[in-house]
Amino acid sequence: MDTDVLVVGAGPTGLMLANQLVRRGVRVLIIDRHAGPSLQTRALGVQARTMEIYSKLGIVDRALDLGKRATGANIWAQGRKMARVPLGEAGQGATPYPFILILGQDDNERIMGDKLRDLGVSVQWNTELVGLEQEPGAVAVALQRPDGTNRKIHAGWVAGCDGARSSVRELSGITFPGAPYEHVFFVADAEATGSMVQDEVNVYLWQEGFHLLFPMRGKDHWRIVGIVPPTLRDRDDVTFEAVIPSLRKEAGAGLSFKTCTWFSTYRIHHRSASHFRDRRCFLLGDAAHIHSPVGAQGMNTGLQDAYNLAWKLALVVKDRAQAALLDSYEEERVPVARRLLNTTDRAFRLVVSDSRLAGLLRTKILARIAAFAMSRERIQRVAFRIVSQIGIHYRKSSLSKSLEGLPESAPRGGDRFPWLRLKFRADGSVEDLFQKLDDTQFDLIVIGQPSPPEGTLNLGGLLRIHVIPVDPINDVELARIQIPQPSFYLVRPDGHVGLCGVRLEAAAVERYVSERLRLAI
Ligand SMILES: Cc1cc2nc3c(=O)[nH]c(=O)nc-3n(C[C@H](O)[C@H](O)[C@H](O)COP(=O)(O)OP(=O)(O)OC[C@H]3O[C@@H](n4cnc5c(N)ncnc54)[C@H](O)[C@@H]3O)c2cc1C
Repeated sequence: MDTDVLVVGAGPTGLMLANQLVRRGVRVLIIDRHAGPSLQTRALGVQARTMEIYSKLGIVDRALDLGKRATGANIWAQGRKMARVPLGEAGQGATPYPFILILGQDDNERIMGDKLRDLGVSVQWNTELVGLEQEPGAVAVALQRPDGTNRKIHAGWVAGCDGARSSVRELSGITFPGAPYEHVFFVADAEATGSMVQDEVNVYLWQEGFHLLFPMRGKDHWRIVGIVPPTLRDRDDVTFEAVIPSLRKEAGAGLSFKTCTWFSTYRIHHRSASHFRDRRCFLLGDAAHIHSPVGAQGMNTGLQDAYNLAWKLALVVKDRAQAALLDSYEEERVPVARRLLNTTDRAFRLVVSDSRLAGLLRTKILARIAAFAMSRERIQRVAFRIVSQIGIHYRKSSLSKSLEGLPESAPRGGDRFPWLRLKFRADGSVEDLFQKLDDTQFDLIVIGQPSPPEGTLNLGGLLRIHVIPVDPINDVELARIQIPQPSFYLVRPDGHVGLCGVRLEAAAVERYVSERLRLAI
């Protein structure tokens, strides 16, 4: 076997997967058909859940240094400011990162690529996957260099992180149903001045469409996203200068541009692969699902596909779990992708529709609804959980189990375990629970009851136990999230709850681990 896992594609998804596998001791070969890293910004919203994962990977500080924190989004209708969505306050207490980080995809890729190199693995550029055949126990793949030379290698598993036109998907015969939207998007990185609120996202809704302005690093530097006017839609040589008149027509004197450093147009599709797996091949990121950029979810969803698959694949490669554990990748990630596709599709149709009625809806009704909704703290909090992706759960997964007696209001099996600040020793100080969790292992959080006796639970060295003592500070923090005392939570390496219940019994945990996780302990 030439490698345990062949990662095809060194975009954000492939780089995240390779990092997560390598730090779990898996042999990885990562290839990309391009000559080097992409220099395009493309996606630029990094969500809180991604920053939590970056923190575990040891790259969050670099991302925070390079990016710009957007703590609010302002909604403008026909040039009038209608509402401000406070992205920051709504996420306070729910995550260490209560904001959207504006950081270009190229920077994200560079940071993850550097980390991978630190771990001893470099991307093999100029290497394209051109053939794939599943054999018993391995996948035979043909790799091609730009000079036309071919080589054949054997990989235990293949991860198709190769984008919307995925070769892994096509060679596996997996269909990609969906359709293109008729609209063509443009994205531009430009120096601009106008009514925009500095350092925040600005959403301009117009009778004829919309423009989004994201603050970028540097003075007056904005990423502008909009739709190409209908008259220019069928041309493939559209320039920034060509779309400026439509921007000016709607924004009037309120907006002026100096330089434009990057401009691109693209047609968006909404599609989801019929399967995310064919035996030893997996699909992740854009190879598995593509949708409109509304809500800045695309890149983040791919990163979390990788985080979901990595720990499972590592356990299987290392013979610590049966291959059946891998069935849960598709079971958990397909519903996330489908839900995302449906919500972004509905929102997208409303914001881009050319009809007069939609124009009225956009500028008169949508903006007012947003203004009203965002004056309600509860709605803000729910909106933050959705957009930041911290609310994604796998409650219906076969890996998720909540034992009887645990109140419905408490975090349940499948939820991302909440961010808490607790005292881990009665005489100790308050610590950040996320810093204590080890994402290369399972964590058992034992609350308000004694630790299991020494030697009774260790899952073959894969478990860390954290005992949360009864303490007035802990009482307040646990009550805030409605976690009862006593209770226990077995947290998976990706931060989601596997098993939870009230009274901890070692036998119940062992049964869960062997029957559901299929771990060999
Ligand atoms: C112009 C533009 C603007 C965008 N703006 C946004 C935005 O604002 N917000 C947002 O969320 N999303 C946006 N997106 C989408 C976002 O870029 C994608 O969701 C993200 O890139 C997906 O990452 P990925 O790693 O899954 O795939 P990709 O980034 O597409 O990476 C796939 C990689 O696989 C390589 N590859 C492909 N085939 C092979 C092969 N056979 N062999 C070897 N290598 C191969 C490619 O060279 C590429 O490097 C935008 C996309 C475009 C094109």
